[in-house]
Amino acid sequence: MNAPDFACDVAIVGLGPTGLTLAHALGQRGHQVLVLEREPRFYGNARAVYTDGECMRIFQSIGMADRLAADMLEDAPVQMVLPDGSVLFQIKTTKREHGWPANNFFYQPLLETALSEGLARHPNVTVLRGREVTRFEQDADGVDLFHVACGGSDYGKAAPQLGVKPAPAPREARVRARWMVGADGGRSGVRAQLGIEMSGKNFPNPWLVVDIKAKDASDGLRHVPYFNFICDPACPTVCCVQPNGHHRFEFMLMPGQTREQMTHPETVRHYLSRYIDVDKFEILRTLVYTFNALMAEKWRDGRVLLAGDAAHMTPQFIGQGMNAGVRDAYNLAWKLDAVLRGQAGEAFLDSYQSERQPHAAAMTREGIRMKDFVSMTHPVGTRVRNLLTRLMVRLPGIGPFVRRGEFIPKPVYEAGCYMGLARRRWRGAEGTLMPQPSVRGPDGRRHLLDELIGTGFVLVSAGVDPRRTLDAEALSFWQSLGARFVAVYPFGGRPNGAGIDHAAPAGLIECEDPEGDFQSWWRRSGGRAGHVAIVRPDKFVFALVEGEALVGATRELRRQMRVDEAVPVTHRALPAVEADHWREAA
Ligand SMILES: Cc1cc2nc3c(=O)[nH]c(=O)nc-3n(C[C@H](O)[C@H](O)[C@H](O)COP(=O)(O)OP(=O)(O)OC[C@H]3O[C@@H](n4cnc5c(N)ncnc54)[C@H](O)[C@@H]3O)c2cc1C
Repeated sequence: MNAPDFACDVAIVGLGPTGLTLAHALGQRGHQVLVLEREPRFYGNARAVYTDGECMRIFQSIGMADRLAADMLEDAPVQMVLPDGSVLFQIKTTKREHGWPANNFFYQPLLETALSEGLARHPNVTVLRGREVTRFEQDADGVDLFHVACGGSDYGKAAPQLGVKPAPAPREARVRARWMVGADGGRSGVRAQLGIEMSGKNFPNPWLVVDIKAKDASDGLRHVPYFNFICDPACPTVCCVQPNGHHRFEFMLMPGQTREQMTHPETVRHYLSRYIDVDKFEILRTLVYTFNALMAEKWRDGRVLLAGDAAHMTPQFIGQGMNAGVRDAYNLAWKLDAVLRGQAGEAFLDSYQSERQPHAAAMTREGIRMKDFVSMTHPVGTRVRNLLTRLMVRLPGIGPFVRRGEFIPKPVYEAGCYMGLARRRWRGAEGTLMPQPSVRGPDGRRHLLDELIGTGFVLVSAGVDPRRTLDAEALSFWQSLGARFVAVYPFGGRPNGAGIDHAAPAGLIECEDPEGDFQSWWRRSGGRAGHVAIVRPDKFVFALVEGEALVGATRELRRQMRVDEAVPVTHRALPAVEADHWREAA
């Protein structure tokens, strides 16, 4: 068989939340994307139930947040509950630093279905279900993927063997991509074929997960309106709120309890009946899980990248497994876009792992702490835990910090590991996510800031034109990247009156900051009048500098993006006839 021409720019293996987000973000940027998913239809394994404000902002950037929010419960408090029903403390906040609620609860099959249907808006994204990627070969220019028809994976089958290159399969098809992303989950065959090890821990305690649905959504759950961690030493339990009458219980297996006993319908009924009237519910699924805290040592090998559970796995106790994958996809999408457009050299992609890995690891450490807190069973230990917790949540400073959930790692990249200038002060903005306040736009209407600044690079300043100090070369560089230029004024502070130009300078977006959220972030970060922030397409700040230092910061950005090594590629349409052929074969 001759090597085919490039059929796509990026081939994504796996259509879970990570693959879906990546397909949207690359599709939106006009690239030819092929997604190969082995399941002919969703297997409906509800796993994730929670997403945060940052990920909602990512869903906003791919045009899906409103659609997804329609099937979510927002702002639901999370509480630590003792076996007698008393509440140890609640974690809740109404702050919307990223424009969206910090706590959003959902039902994963609804979220995945909506994201999948949303891909229809990108004709340049082709999804082939029922196609399993069995092996791949890469060279300096691209990757050949081999895939076969698959009638369903039998979820939970043995993991592929590390470093073993699978033999060619009968009736396999081949497709060539410039880049390939393995978003194929915790048992990633892509990772296994690359021989990449995972290091970390497996936790021995299995948990029984029971997904239920109320027969009448208005009856049966009024007494459990919040997400409860039930700190019961006799049986640590998680009780998860979900929309549309869905609900989840998770019970930790105690010593001596077996999977078979725990999944027996009578046992499931017994445990559920502690909290609900079981007859009012349909039991959708019971499954016993163990949790892992694992990290792939390498996230990129040549033209193949790993994302989501394929790169890292975390105990679900702070609900950050899927969210980490969504963040990976968002970080990777704009970098792949820059490389494909010839705006960045390939080595720039290494910043993907150096930025994302420490953040994913920090989330995992926090997930383990939460797991240890909830799953404590020692009678004395639990009494001490409860006493200390009661004291701690009353302390000034620490109490509000805990009760607002501020112990969850922030979107801040580790010093020395991110693409951007070094942070020069403790609260410096570089390598951190710019907040998303509600602003008053040029049309006199309220917008979330990202709606005005779009999905590319942005130069932002407080009250002046950020281009003021750019020389012709730097300006033309920013224009070649399609950057936007934004001036944010205090509320009521837009230029007005005699002597003011009657039209805004061409290409400048002007807006006001009614709540003062932008201004307080700007000041906190060291921003002053005349400073300019260079904001990356993923809304992380590259630099916040005085206007006079902007040309130098632009030069540094070019260096870090390896612009001199960039090779532009031309886009070619995915041959529809071949895609149809595979579809029929499936
Ligand atoms: C009980 C439980 C509760 C959880 N709760 C939360 C939560 O509240 N919040 C949260 O953020 N996370 C949570 N998680 C974690 C979350 O569900 C996962 O992290 C997330 O689904 C991973 O997404 P992914 O797209 O990376 O991988 P997956 O969802 O595993 O998707 C991988 C896809 O790749 C496909 N695939 C695999 N191999 C191939 C192949 N060779 N060819 C083609 N396709 C292939 C698979 O069929 C699958 O569709 C929870 C997990 C569990 C178990």
